[in-house]
Amino acid sequence: MSRRERIEKFIAPYRVVGEGRFRLKSIDPADIGPLTGKEQAKDLLEEGIEKLAEMQEKLYAQNKWAVLLIFQAMDAAGKDGTIKHVMSGVNPQGCQVYSFKAPGPEELDHDFLWRCARCLPERGRIGIFNRSYYEETLVVRVHPELLARQHLPDECLGKDIWKHRYEDIRNWEKYLSRNGVLIRKFFLHVSKDEQKRRFLSRLKEKEKNWKFSHADVAERAHWDDYQRVYEETIRHTATPYAPWYVVPADKKWFTRLVVGAVVHDALESLNLEFPTLDESKIKELEAAERALQAEE
Ligand code: ATP
Ligand code: MG
Repeated sequence: MSRRERIEKFIAPYRVVGEGRFRLKSIDPADIGPLTGKEQAKDLLEEGIEKLAEMQEKLYAQNKWAVLLIFQAMDAAGKDGTIKHVMSGVNPQGCQVYSFKAPGPEELDHDFLWRCARCLPERGRIGIFNRSYYEETLVVRVHPELLARQHLPDECLGKDIWKHRYEDIRNWEKYLSRNGVLIRKFFLHVSKDEQKRRFLSRLKEKEKNWKFSHADVAERAHWDDYQRVYEETIRHTATPYAPWYVVPADKKWFTRLVVGAVVHDALESLNLEFPTLDESKIKELEAAERALQAEE
């Protein structure tokens, strides 16, 4: 089996590409795939980071494709740590991370994709969304009062609003993919028990206290609602051109490994190469070399 095939086999169980019957329960948050433990992952993680850095350089040099990575999850599922780890070897000039919080007045005065459209990665770059327009069918659905704050005309607030949002998102992602933006979406799937453990350690350990937010505990009370809207959102917005990956997130090292492998696979699918030079450019370089050699 080639390396490419091994990666494909490793990530395939977590990929959702089509609308339909996907169920969150079909993926165990504690899954560690074919691995037996953390020790096995160490070399793989390091190797993955090196390869990623190499491919990112080509992406940048080629300046054709843009890559958009979207991260969604319940609190404490490890979005920040995963982003930090996976991008740790990458040239900061070729990578932009945006975190989307609750929208402010200017953002609420626009359509729901507006603020994210402004943050899309340029060609040659990797853009990361830490939360995204997907909040518009998640938190906004769990808390209807947020929708009321969006000043939408009554005509736009019918019973089909969520169906319409899914459709708009699918169309937008199709549009982006037709314009050279490669999209991969991650739902870090943590269990309710593991979230509790992580919250408790944020409370107990001094150096983790800053991560604790009272609001997170309030959202936890809506756990089942969130699982339901996540499942529905994934069902309706998973497409071949913008697949979701539902990544087991109870073991941080495993989450990082899967996300790294998906990003790796995505970049590899672009067959990136450094740009080749045409005849006149080669002559130009040769002339420059001669001029430099001829200097005193
Ligand atoms: P961390 O807690 O690790 O800093 P985070 O992503 O949870 O990361 P917070 O500042 O805690 O960051 O939370 C951001 C909040 O903003 C989330 O509760 C999220 O649901 C909310 N949010 C993001 N986008 C929207 C939106 N479009 N409408 C309403 N709320 C949103
Ligand atoms: Mg938070």
